[in-house]
Amino acid sequence: MKSWHIAVIGKGMIGSAAARYLAEAGCQVTLVGPDEPSDFGNHPGVFAAHYDAARITRRMDRDPHWAAWATASISRYSDLEARTGLRFHHPVGFLAAACGGSDLIDAMLACVPHEQAMTPAYDGGCFCLPSSARILHEGSPAGWIDPRRLVQAQTLAAVAAGARVVRLPVWALRPAPDAVRLILDDGSEIRADRVLVCAGAFSGPVGLAPGLPLRAHGRSVLLARVGAELAAEWAGMPSLIRVDPEADLPDIYLLPPVRYPDGAHYIKIGTGSIDHPLDDLESLQRWFREPPVADDAERLARTLFELLPELTDADLRSDACAVTLTPSGYPLIDWVEPDRIAPGRIAVACGGNGKAAKSSDEIGRIAADLVTDRLQDPGLRRLLQP
Ligand SMILES: Cc1cc2nc3c(=O)[nH]c(=O)nc-3n(C[C@H](O)[C@H](O)[C@H](O)COP(=O)(O)OP(=O)(O)OC[C@H]3O[C@@H](n4cnc5c(N)ncnc54)[C@H](O)[C@@H]3O)c2cc1C
Repeated sequence: MKSWHIAVIGKGMIGSAAARYLAEAGCQVTLVGPDEPSDFGNHPGVFAAHYDAARITRRMDRDPHWAAWATASISRYSDLEARTGLRFHHPVGFLAAACGGSDLIDAMLACVPHEQAMTPAYDGGCFCLPSSARILHEGSPAGWIDPRRLVQAQTLAAVAAGARVVRLPVWALRPAPDAVRLILDDGSEIRADRVLVCAGAFSGPVGLAPGLPLRAHGRSVLLARVGAELAAEWAGMPSLIRVDPEADLPDIYLLPPVRYPDGAHYIKIGTGSIDHPLDDLESLQRWFREPPVADDAERLARTLFELLPELTDADLRSDACAVTLTPSGYPLIDWVEPDRIAPGRIAVACGGNGKAAKSSDEIGRIAADLVTDRLQDPGLRRLLQP
């Protein structure tokens, strides 16, 4: 393979994985993107979807492609943990609960070939679910991952394979003879043979991947503080997705007690049922800087107390995050030509659709194959095109 200099923009879940695969394949790699800001309210730059301590991981999915990408990624977690010494995977299991006539369980069973790992008759554990709920349990390795630590591990492994990290945002791409110029926050430039844009929700609004059908949506989450005793009692609690078309929030997910950076344990609940469209850079930045939406938090709290009444008196706080959606529901991994500045030199890997944390290793691997001309499968190419 040619020894291209490839710049990966976005030190997030997909970008850090892609950078690792590119460096391990022998490319000269520069991974360009800022660290997490320390003061969100006054941060003038970009934000990310992985600033949190827990994301659900599971092989079960209602879509066979997402199930395959998750399965491939999960199978490689332990190798990455062993190589970096960073533990990010907690295989406590996963529960899918279908209420109110939802087809979730049938759809999941139809496309995931590991029935042995599942217990269709699991009783719901500590969650208060209606007796009519259909419940499916996926044991280890399903559970949760720490997204910050996974990014840290991918970045560490990329650097060990020779990648360079530049911790600044990129504000523009410009043409150069036989190269692309990246214009950085401090005015400096990087020249690269090829560029892979993995800037998540900011890819379009910043202008690095203009004109693509990527939509950024704000999502709220609620965290309930759990005392040490209850956290110990619930240590084996699985992650949960509950779908109930008749509920106020038809689509919710819940993470078991997880220790956050402040040292306390929190149970987190979130939903795909409340969306806040963020159409431009300013509204995206405002979403992260300003306090979370109080009404979202109230609705999430009501659902949380139904599922876990023990938390009715818990201290609550809410947080804001953003997902990047595509019309297909799949990530968008393809060559692009923003303003035709450098045909054949700029590719994107964006559009996690709110579910790419667990699968980011495989998505990054596929993107690395694309930018090194090794992605041959025409079916996969078509699936990931705009
Ligand atoms: C509330 C919430 C809950 C979720 N829960 C789950 C879950 O349970 N399971 C699951 O699998 N997935 C979940 N997801 C989805 C998952 O977190 C995302 O799909 C994933 O983080 C997407 O990865 P990414 O690399 O595309 O984006 P990000 O992780 O956001 O990374 C993008 C990176 O680009 C950088 N960047 C942006 N602009 C620039 C620029 N101009 N120059 C340089 N760098 C730039 C950012 O700093 C960031 O580091 C959830 C998402 C949210 C918001």
